[in-house]
Amino acid sequence: MSGFLHRTFSRLNIKIRVLVFSMAIVPILLLSVIINVTYVRRSIKSESENLYSRSEVLSKQVVTSGYLDDQGDVTMELRLSELAQLISGRVMLVDSSLRVIYDSYSIDKGKVFLWENVTKSANGEMLTYVDRKNNIITTTIPITTINDENELEIVGVLLASESVNSISENLNYIISIELIVLFLLLGFAILLGIILGNRYSSPITDASSQLDTGIKGDKINSIDVKGYSEIEELASQFNTYVNKMETIDESRQEFVSNVSHELKTPLTSMKVLADSLIGMGDAPVELYQEFIGDISQEIERETGIINDLLTMVRMDKSNANLNISTVNVNELVESILKRLRPIAEKQNVELVLESFRPITAEVDEIKLGLAISNLIENGIKYNNPGGFVHISLNSDHQYFYIRVEDSGMGIPEDSLDMIFERFYRVDKSHSREIGGTGLGLAITHMSIIMHGGEIKVDSTLGEGTTFDVRIPLSHIEEEGN
Ligand code: ADP
Repeated sequence: MSGFLHRTFSRLNIKIRVLVFSMAIVPILLLSVIINVTYVRRSIKSESENLYSRSEVLSKQVVTSGYLDDQGDVTMELRLSELAQLISGRVMLVDSSLRVIYDSYSIDKGKVFLWENVTKSANGEMLTYVDRKNNIITTTIPITTINDENELEIVGVLLASESVNSISENLNYIISIELIVLFLLLGFAILLGIILGNRYSSPITDASSQLDTGIKGDKINSIDVKGYSEIEELASQFNTYVNKMETIDESRQEFVSNVSHELKTPLTSMKVLADSLIGMGDAPVELYQEFIGDISQEIERETGIINDLLTMVRMDKSNANLNISTVNVNELVESILKRLRPIAEKQNVELVLESFRPITAEVDEIKLGLAISNLIENGIKYNNPGGFVHISLNSDHQYFYIRVEDSGMGIPEDSLDMIFERFYRVDKSHSREIGGTGLGLAITHMSIIMHGGEIKVDSTLGEGTTFDVRIPLSHIEEEGN
């Protein structure tokens, strides 16, 4: 049970509701208590001060009228009973021996009044007693006179009790207003709690249930982007991730069919060539040589594809180490160009190298060579007859820079983010015609990142593409490698 409670209350949704609820209710409750207590205190204080001042006026009159010694003064008795009426309560006069000489209720006259407050007032104190149960305030004040020796003498006590029902009536009225406000606020807080709770937690619960779906192997869907700042960011990043995953997954499936197709094509041609040679029986040597030459080309193509796959798998291993040596980058690029020039010529694409300065750098010659040659190969492959590929080499004291610029078909803007993903190809049908596996740029990217470098692409559809590569001149061994 406690586990269930803990789980329930640790849920973000519930937490937000409880928070909003307490933020709305707790201050108003506190405020109500403070208002009520202050109201009661101030009312009692002002009522008792009122009673004191009336009693004082009356006590002076009692002294001057000599009523304490002779109760024959009717005017004084009238005044005492007037006060009792005015305060809707009781007025009592007690002499210095605590004997009651006037009682507006006419109950205790003649009796000795031994109430603590009266005794204290007979010793000079002004006191207020609050009877909360019956809503009565009783003040007792000493009646003083100046005696013959010119000293202040206490000659009696004046007691006045006032019913203060009005204070509790007002308090009840205030409480009822506070309750109405509290209930309105309660409704508002519950509503706000539900709205905010859902707004904040639903992207998270949605994401979590979508991830559950993913774990079970089903398709993950995008979630609603709502909530505020961080939650929105989380939801939109989740969606970006899901979209990316979907694209990668689609590309992967395509890759499998592409690779199978690519691997099968050379095999099919080899089979056709071999079968026709077998079928011909006594074919002339020239024909044999021609067919075997074709078969050899197909083997080369097949090897190329397999090599690409192997390179990628090898690079993919996290512990793949670079085989660092000091390499003359100009020579490396020139040797790549030498190898690619016949292919470029065949496509009628011009290859131009512009070296601004000699560069030597600490790199893995094979892996960097692969990265550069993939970029140049693409520049040739995705070009138009009569086009060009410009390669430029430059460096500063920290980095060397390689730019590969072509006048080819360009890459659509929405594909620019994806081209470095494995298996991704912009125009599937076109790329298949051209050949390739969608692995070239992934290999290039991996190799450059392993060298601590950076690659950027800029492209205009129909005009051409420029790849900018930046690699540190000296290799810094990464921690953990
Ligand atoms: P592929 O083996 O298909 O060439 P890459 O990883 O080398 O694979 O390239 C991925 C995709 O990016 C290519 O299929 C192509 O559509 C696009 N691409 C790469 N380089 C260029 C370029 N220089 N010009 C136009 N498109 C390019």
